[in-house]
Amino acid sequence: MSASAIVLLGPPASGKGTQGRLLAKEKMLSYFSTGKQLRQEVKVGSLLGKEAEPYLVTGHYVPDELALALATAWIRKVKGGWVLDGFPRTLPQAEELDQALGVDSDCLRALLMEGPVAELERRVTDRRECTGCPWTGTKVQAEAFGGACPSCGGRLGQRDDDDLENFRQRLKVFEELTLPVAEYYEQSGRLLRIWGVGTPAEVFKRVKSELA
Ligand code: AMP
Repeated sequence: MSASAIVLLGPPASGKGTQGRLLAKEKMLSYFSTGKQLRQEVKVGSLLGKEAEPYLVTGHYVPDELALALATAWIRKVKGGWVLDGFPRTLPQAEELDQALGVDSDCLRALLMEGPVAELERRVTDRRECTGCPWTGTKVQAEAFGGACPSCGGRLGQRDDDDLENFRQRLKVFEELTLPVAEYYEQSGRLLRIWGVGTPAEVFKRVKSELA
């Protein structure tokens, strides 16, 4: 695996977060999820969170300027390679990211996580995450841990936006705004398609072989 600027694209619950964290750990890259950061900002009631909240609760994307500011500020701080989960999500974001990377943009690889809608719906209702750290798992796992995060001890719960109505809206926005981003990377030979059905380990094998 050689690329050290990796972006993860995919519909809700396609496994971006799980695979992104596995990849970051394996390759010793920094990992950032714009969605997770936005939910955190909402939770603490920051200015940015207040601006983002109406978009998150209705299943829409936050404005490009906001997502770009968050992602580029993070990239500037990071030393070494990185994995971005959920960014870029629109063509203007992808183009700005390429501009910010300059010649290094040739080395970027975009992983598109794919899976059937019925499976994504099942995962959305089953998904649990930690409010304090990147841990994500299932309802059964969260119950087995007594609702406390095995990684940091924080509270495990369901994301506010993980209901079916919100999921369907997010899927629609993904198809409208993010599939063109996949095409943008495909045209420049930087897109890798990953079939996201299976255990995290099975999917991760595919990720590694695509990146090899
Ligand atoms: P995620 O955790 O990746 O599913 O993202 C949750 C939500 O955060 C999305 O439904 C969007 O409302 C927002 N979001 C995350 N990343 C972006 C982005 N790059 N551009 C616009 N909105 C984003």
